[in-house]
Amino acid sequence: MKVGIPKGLLYYDYQPFFHTFFEELGAELIVSSDTNKDILDKGVKYCVDEACLPVKVFHGHVAEIKDQCDLIVIPRIMQLRKREFICPKFCGLPEMVINSIPDMPRATMAPLYALSKERLFQWAKVVGKEVTHNTAKLSKAFEAAVECQSNYKKGIDDDSYPIKVALSGHPYNIYDNFINMNIVNKLKKLGVGVVTEEVIDEDIKNREVSKLYKKPFWSFARNNYSFTSHMADQKLVNGIIYISSFACGIDSVVIELIKHNIEDFPLLVLKVDEHTGEAGLDTRIEAFVDMLERRRS
Ligand code: SF4
Repeated sequence: MKVGIPKGLLYYDYQPFFHTFFEELGAELIVSSDTNKDILDKGVKYCVDEACLPVKVFHGHVAEIKDQCDLIVIPRIMQLRKREFICPKFCGLPEMVINSIPDMPRATMAPLYALSKERLFQWAKVVGKEVTHNTAKLSKAFEAAVECQSNYKKGIDDDSYPIKVALSGHPYNIYDNFINMNIVNKLKKLGVGVVTEEVIDEDIKNREVSKLYKKPFWSFARNNYSFTSHMADQKLVNGIIYISSFACGIDSVVIELIKHNIEDFPLLVLKVDEHTGEAGLDTRIEAFVDMLERRRS
């Protein structure tokens, strides 16, 4: 069986799990290319106009590989932590894609709750049966996938430059170099190092959000708020750059929370959508770095 894995949305966080699980089940993986102009164009063509850029890009990844696979993985990620939720776009992602792109192969529909290993196994059992009915093989594939995911470390912490910024935003905006127009390299060329939220401990995140009147409802809000708050409070960076998708409801709240919290600490918010021009983005980054240099000197 050929199983398609679109390289979009939380693929950047959970690719070891999905790859290992389906490979161990004996499927042949068809993984979409890194995001490129053709994928973006396909996404814009098929997805509803109102969606944010990462969701459009995800549609493009599906469209690229749909004709080569028997089953396509569209993770309906519901919850990663207790009393926190993922964006509603993830909850309805399979329906959104199936109803937008014609001639789709079968797609995974089961909701994914990663609150515990047992809950995650519920997803694996339902989805794994699409590939094999051998329950021993399924359990073994699941164990291997969980282990592979737990050994996976990602994140950037680059101290080799005179200026350092906290790069905040959702993982697909930070790690998809087409969406963010290779911002990490742009910053390096300007003499700026980057740190991302994965480098701070969970207990620091918990402490930061506990200062809020109300705990954030969304996992993305928790991560980005706590990270920027810690970096600014402790003066661990010279500034913060937040990459946000145009039309993202969660970002519209969390960016205001961050601004209110860090007061006059330097913050650059870069909104991206399919119309964002690279020259405009470069100008804003250069102006921000120029300001950081002057503050430093
Ligand atoms: S959290 Fe924001 S950027 Fe991410 S899928 Fe939802 S609306 Fe789009």
